[in-house]
Amino acid sequence: MFHSTRIKLTAWYLLIIMSVSILFSITIYSGINRELKRIETFQKIRQERFENRFRDFSIPPPQIQQGLEEIQNSREHLILVLVFINIGIFILSGGAGYFLAGRTLLPIQEMVDEQNRFITDASHELRTPLTSLRSEIEVNLRDKNLTLAQTKKLLESNLEEVISLQTLSDTLITLTRHKKTQAAFIKLSLSMVIAEAVKKIAPLAKQKHITITTKLRDSIFEGEKQSIVELFIILLDNAVKYSPKNSKVTIAEESSDSFLIVAVTDCGIGIGQKDIPHIFNRFYQADKARQKSQAGGYGLGLSIAKKIAETHKGSISVESKINKGSIFRVKLPIL
Ligand code: ADP
Repeated sequence: MFHSTRIKLTAWYLLIIMSVSILFSITIYSGINRELKRIETFQKIRQERFENRFRDFSIPPPQIQQGLEEIQNSREHLILVLVFINIGIFILSGGAGYFLAGRTLLPIQEMVDEQNRFITDASHELRTPLTSLRSEIEVNLRDKNLTLAQTKKLLESNLEEVISLQTLSDTLITLTRHKKTQAAFIKLSLSMVIAEAVKKIAPLAKQKHITITTKLRDSIFEGEKQSIVELFIILLDNAVKYSPKNSKVTIAEESSDSFLIVAVTDCGIGIGQKDIPHIFNRFYQADKARQKSQAGGYGLGLSIAKKIAETHKGSISVESKINKGSIFRVKLPIL
């Protein structure tokens, strides 16, 4: 599809350039030709005068005749030069046009590829709970002696899958939302934002007896409140999810002159060096077997966090050691 669009775009570039070039050639030719015609007429008048004067001596006027031939040659030569110039322009602009069309279409192609990848990943993730839901229902429907207790158990299991599907669709919507909108920024207090995120994660942390400690200087920065809170919820949620019971999670401010740096540190399972470059990719989950029992996410949280940080002209980085813990650093421009 992109190849044919590239060819079409090249054809349009060529059409425009060649129209201009041919128009110029015609203008140049008619300008020079007018001048040649004027000289030709002048030479012909001279020839006629010469012939009238020397008619009786029958002497041919060699120089005038030669001049007229030269004019005709120049005219042919000019046409030839203009044709060659136009062929040259056609070849050059064809090549340049094809190259430029490729450059123009590249971001669109990347965007379409990205969207296709997103659709494939999302449908892949949706298929797993749907398949399990379907097979469970089918198997139980075939069972003629299904008891009320079994039906209840089936419905409970179905509900679990439905909740899982709902979480996934909500996360996917969040991801596209951050993709599209440029946030409406307001002045934010870091301690307020963190307090809100901690409040959301507190029940989960309590379940695992994890203490969340904050070491903040309360800087003021600009951002879209809901997105920034969401960013820290994602990091805190991961820190708690991937930490053992009775451990600690710390949120500390490490501001530099022009940036606000907030580090979320946990003493959890850590991330392997081979996984670190990929954890911000959509649907990427490091070492599924090691963490599956406790986590149960979809590998979308960090890609959302990264998107939020980037929308705020900031960034997010990670330092981690297996079985020692992880530090996620959020860097945001300060006021
Ligand atoms: P998920 O929903 O699976 O947590 P994320 O995008 O939030 O998705 O994280 C991607 C992967 O990065 C996780 O599956 C996990 O392997 C790893 N990860 C993220 N945060 C941590 C952390 N604090 N400790 C250990 N591993 C983490």
